[in-house]
Amino acid sequence: MTSRNGRCTVVVGCQWGDEGKGKIVDVLAEDVDVVARYQGGANAGHTVQVGENTFILHQIPSGILHPGKRCLLGNGVVLDVLQFFQEHDALVERGIDVHGRVGVSERAHLLLPYHTALDRASEDRAAQKIGTTGRGIGPAYEEKAGRRGVRVADLRGGVRVEQRVREGLERALQRLGGSGDHLEEEVRTSLEMGGRLRAMATDTGREITEALAGGRRVLLEGAQGTALDLDHGTYPFVTSSNTTAGGAATGVGIGPTAIDTVVGVVKAYTTRVGYGPLPTGFDPEMDQRVRELGGEYGATTGRPRRCGWFDAVLARYSARVNGLTGLAVTKLDVLDTLPELTIATEYATESGGSTRDFPADTWSLESVVPRYETLPGWETDTSTATRLSDLPKNARAYLDRIEELTGAPIAMVSVGTRRSQIIRL
Ligand code: GDP
Repeated sequence: MTSRNGRCTVVVGCQWGDEGKGKIVDVLAEDVDVVARYQGGANAGHTVQVGENTFILHQIPSGILHPGKRCLLGNGVVLDVLQFFQEHDALVERGIDVHGRVGVSERAHLLLPYHTALDRASEDRAAQKIGTTGRGIGPAYEEKAGRRGVRVADLRGGVRVEQRVREGLERALQRLGGSGDHLEEEVRTSLEMGGRLRAMATDTGREITEALAGGRRVLLEGAQGTALDLDHGTYPFVTSSNTTAGGAATGVGIGPTAIDTVVGVVKAYTTRVGYGPLPTGFDPEMDQRVRELGGEYGATTGRPRRCGWFDAVLARYSARVNGLTGLAVTKLDVLDTLPELTIATEYATESGGSTRDFPADTWSLESVVPRYETLPGWETDTSTATRLSDLPKNARAYLDRIEELTGAPIAMVSVGTRRSQIIRL
């Protein structure tokens, strides 16, 4: 329906999140005009290093750190109002000019303080914990799917929105038991910010479509990763939204044909935070070693991440589910000191067979035994490489093998936290 000459790129995590999407988005954002988030909420934590400054962004797209870029939160996002303005105002305090640059979809759902309270209570009580970030994401999406949510557009509606919120609060208090005085107070504060939020309200689908028609470039930024996708991940140890590339179209309000490029971000090894299986997990000693080398502690919760070898079964699955056009491999430098590297190429199953497909049955994933292939390490510092040819031969062989096994061409390799520490192909 639209004629356009702009380009639209999706950046998606291909493991269990924390792949370093923030860094890749930050690098790609330089060349685009609009950056939009399409799902999740304040459970995401992108860490971006600009010069000597480290920024951790939970809701506002990391494109905000590039002057002049328009940053959008799509309808697929659940917006924690208090957190959002905290983050917004902290950027202003640190000298980032955000004026007129942040837009919020009118169709985005609000995440209110009672969602957070419900999330924490249900994790505390659950026999089978998911390991959520406790930021209210699950309960907010439950209300959205249950048609009880409150959207940015509703903030116009005086009595109606107040009634919806009151009902939501009452339902939450019933489930929580006990008193909710502080919740009422926090909900009131959130709604008082409604005016500020309304001033930022926009139709993200229309904005993006018009930007593309005008020849501008758009980046759609995913949070979490493919293995945490509500449909395609290791259910029930997943997040409550579609993190995969298909979710990008729905989550901002454009058609899938508007997307040209899908960049999948994978760490050069694997990590996982929260509960649920991690087939290629290291033994405790190696786990500790790589966690320290890679600084593998959650940006949102500070929780230590479990670490493991590169899982090509998962990466190949992610390449297919997301329709990747390219792969961005991050944190290659973290492996610089290891004498040998191992890649899981398939899983041996309980029945005595093997599979190269990532299983739907999450419980069977607990018992699969990965079949590994060992490659020699490079034991050389890679952190100053800016071209593929700067990398040691063994590092290139490792990347070639990842490319071969996943079936997606490598488009970028990240060798450090800084913007300049990137190889673009
Ligand atoms: P995200 O949620 O996918 O953006 O991932 P996080 O921000 O939680 O984790 C990425 C962490 O790794 C951040 O602290 C980044 O600064 C860091 N990082 C990203 N790319 C690289 C890299 O190539 N090498 C190293 N050593 N660190 C990196």
